[in-house]
Amino acid sequence: MKIAFIGLGNMGAPMAANLSKAGHEVTGFDVAGATAEGVGTAASGPEAATGADVVITMLPNGQILRSVAAEVIPAMSPGAVLLDCSTVDVESARAVADQAAEAGLGALDAPVSGGIGGASGGTLTFMVGGSDEAFAKARPLFDIMGQKAVHCGPSGNGQAAKICNNMILGVTMIATCEAFALADKLGLSREAMFDVVSTSSGYSWSMNAYCPAPGVGPQSPADNGYKPGFAAELMLKDLGLSQQAAEAADADTPMGQRALELYRAFVEDEGGTGRDFSAMLPRFEERGRG
Ligand code: NAD
Repeated sequence: MKIAFIGLGNMGAPMAANLSKAGHEVTGFDVAGATAEGVGTAASGPEAATGADVVITMLPNGQILRSVAAEVIPAMSPGAVLLDCSTVDVESARAVADQAAEAGLGALDAPVSGGIGGASGGTLTFMVGGSDEAFAKARPLFDIMGQKAVHCGPSGNGQAAKICNNMILGVTMIATCEAFALADKLGLSREAMFDVVSTSSGYSWSMNAYCPAPGVGPQSPADNGYKPGFAAELMLKDLGLSQQAAEAADADTPMGQRALELYRAFVEDEGGTGRDFSAMLPRFEERGRG
């Protein structure tokens, strides 16, 4: 396929390189001049998008997605698919899909989980919203860039699945970290805490697969000085999107709201920027109730 790839950052560059390695003709554009291995370079988004079967975007937020989409949609050929893999608000995803449909294009929102490691290893999970037809067309690309693609329903549903998942993740990571800090103060060893919880009803991905306590459980960013991994500021972004969606949908999400407040304080006032989101554990360790 002829593919345009717009946004060659930490995630986009390795994803584009994997598509090229698999034999697709990939042309990239990044406003910062970033490039990717095996990927041709265009002078603008519309230039990359001209004649492409699929235009992939991997951008920082919904506002940037909307402005890039407004530029590239008129350059795309009828029947082509606009495939956005960024994490953005549900409203922007749906607005861009509507615009694409009006221009006779297919559109998919397909945010990912798996981080930079998943992007370079081609093992991402895609959560996809959009038509069956567009999903079928993009399927071979998901198979190259990832190990799993779940079709979650119409446009916007991929983003909805992503932010609901990450709201659970933010809340369970905080719960796991505060429980470790309490266990410390009660004189329980971290090893004992892990052994019990990871095989009892408190288990979760945060405890079992990504344990925030160094030296305990599987290898995780905690064993590497809390270098991300999944940075606290990215968790803050996703929790912000989930609360934005909850407000728009009138959904009561008190735990998600509290997780947002804690990550915001951590990132903005407590030195959390550039640290993994599991570094909530040292944050709780240092504090009392006051
Ligand atoms: P990044 O900041 O490294 O990359 C974004 C790229 O977009 C940058 O290179 C930037 O120059 C480019 N860009 C910005 N405006 C542009 C424009 N108008 N035209 C062309 N290019 C433009 O971010 P990233 O880590 O690659 O993340 C991309 C998306 O993936 C985000 O939405 C993020 O939330 C999501 N995501 C990231 C991770 C992760 O671990 N990094 C994991 C899952 C999802």
